[in-house]
Amino acid sequence: MTELSIRQIPVLKDNYVYLIRDPDSGSTGVVDPAVAGPVLDALKDTGWRLTHILNTHHHGDHTGGNLELKHATGCTIVGPRADRDRIPGIDIELGDGDTYEFGKRAAHVFDVPGHTRGHIAYWFPDSRALFCGDTLFIMGCGRLFEGTPAQMWKSLGKLKALPPETRIYCAHEYTQNNARFALSVEPGNVDLVARARRVDDMRARNIPTVPGTMAEELLTNPFLRADQPSLQQVAGHVGDPVATLAEIRHRKDVF
Ligand code: ZN
Ligand code: FE
Repeated sequence: MTELSIRQIPVLKDNYVYLIRDPDSGSTGVVDPAVAGPVLDALKDTGWRLTHILNTHHHGDHTGGNLELKHATGCTIVGPRADRDRIPGIDIELGDGDTYEFGKRAAHVFDVPGHTRGHIAYWFPDSRALFCGDTLFIMGCGRLFEGTPAQMWKSLGKLKALPPETRIYCAHEYTQNNARFALSVEPGNVDLVARARRVDDMRARNIPTVPGTMAEELLTNPFLRADQPSLQQVAGHVGDPVATLAEIRHRKDVF
């Protein structure tokens, strides 16, 4: 099975924008274009012709380049149905359970509210790639701007259920800070201690820590681990993953 070609473009302070291309059809998409300029430069560089924008949610650091890119290339804009009024230039609306044919590659769509109320994630099983915007970060999760801890727990549960080899293409390089926080709530997690050390080393050499794999997240991401008794004990909510997630999200907000 042919895989997507994926090119990571760092923009702004800590955003990642992704160019994705299906080599069989030539379909070329950009996931969450915060800005247009660096995307146009990358297109020039690769010789790829932009056919799609795939948005995960409405925030400006994910949609800021939409209209300029559409104007420049005539591309189709795909985004969350639940937030269609806040996605500039949206053409195709998607929601939970939809499959979107991106060229010859299928993207499975999940509603993952919590960070915003209309957040979606795109999973390309053939490429083992998940584009999850600001819902799941490496060792972290998005702030709850428009949703509840219960919604976020349910959203993370959908992502957690994906195959462990799934690569997580999130929209920010927040990993080093997330690791420091994770260590504050799980200091005895040996996988976490080892991963935090690797992350420090990568960041010291300016290497992106994204993507990571779901297998690593299951072992080290405290927000995915709110069902673990040891973390529930730390949060003071044994037997309650939602209250545990709420507590550790609050602690992260003030970390
Ligand atoms: Zn956001
Ligand atoms: Fe963001």
